[in-house]
Amino acid sequence: MNVERFAASRWTRGNLLFPTVIEVTDAAVVRRKRSWFTKNEMSIHLQRVASVHVETGFFWSDVLIESTGGSDPIASHGHRKRDAQRIKDLIEAAQTQHLQAGADDGPTKVCPFCAESVKLAAKVCRFCGRELPLQAGREG
Ligand SMILES: [Zn+2]
Repeated sequence: MNVERFAASRWTRGNLLFPTVIEVTDAAVVRRKRSWFTKNEMSIHLQRVASVHVETGFFWSDVLIESTGGSDPIASHGHRKRDAQRIKDLIEAAQTQHLQAGADDGPTKVCPFCAESVKLAAKVCRFCGRELPLQAGREG
């Protein structure tokens, strides 16, 4: 499995002794942060990343990774600009791959309003935005 690690700079706030580490693997993005007494680790599955924000200041970049589904976002500050951009690129590349691989995936149904095909489990049409009637069993 590919793992890329990005440690925050020790010269930034809160990172002198135990810099925050962001790891991007094939499957997830993980943030590791420890202190004298605690070890804090949180991760978001790559498929559940809603967006990656990189905010670049004069010296360092802050990274904010938001997830779908209500779990807390991963935030880390004090990264080198190059690293922050790489984190964003890695996550977005993984998501694009997944979208392409899953494009023709799973059963579909036809929207009764606009006649486009949408996923069988969809509750709202992604083309016209209308609410779809629930499937009543497996008919015809
Ligand atoms: Zn529709």
